[in-house]
Amino acid sequence: MERKIAKVLITEEQLKKRVAELGEQITNEYFGKDLLTIGIFKGAVPFFADLIRQIRIPLRYDFMAVSSYGSSNRSSGAVRLLKDLETSVEDKHVLIVEDIVDTGLTLKYLKENLLRRQPLSLKIVTLLDKPERRQVDIQPDYNGFVIPNEFAVGYGLDYDEMYRNLTYIGVLKPEVYEK
Ligand code: 5GP
Ligand code: MG
Ligand code: MG
Repeated sequence: MERKIAKVLITEEQLKKRVAELGEQITNEYFGKDLLTIGIFKGAVPFFADLIRQIRIPLRYDFMAVSSYGSSNRSSGAVRLLKDLETSVEDKHVLIVEDIVDTGLTLKYLKENLLRRQPLSLKIVTLLDKPERRQVDIQPDYNGFVIPNEFAVGYGLDYDEMYRNLTYIGVLKPEVYEK
């Protein structure tokens, strides 16, 4: 697996440090509030698991899954709900936990979908932000790292469902895509 990596964008140590900082910020912001964190399958899972344990207040969590049509390393625009929440967002402060904002289409869909259910508040935390690729005007409220316009894998992010279990974030060698 490691042989396929051209370069490391974010090391395991950098991830750990930044996730702890985000956890502290979120802890301060939501202290005394009824927090529901929503992890977005599948990419956000490692980030989600690490982040919630750095949030030092009582919280609930749930998951959603969405898919965007298109080939494996490109999103096309149409977003579809694959798995809905099991919990109500009513009377909750909701925090969406995502892996990456790229075009922004996925988060726009999620935000509009959840706002219709009238939570007390709705914010977004993403691990990564690729602002160069944005197609819609949406910004995360908290973001781990801004990255250049390159296809990232690792720590939940996949290429063809692989590489999610890397402990760091990297970029694949071009030969991987040529097969
Ligand atoms: P969007 O374009 O809607 O903002 O992002 C849609 C989804 O595409 C993300 O949640 C993520 O799963 C995937 N994606 C976007 N950029 C990357 C990337 O650099 N690497 C990987 N592995 N997935 C990405
Ligand atoms: Mg995602
Ligand atoms: Mg993917």
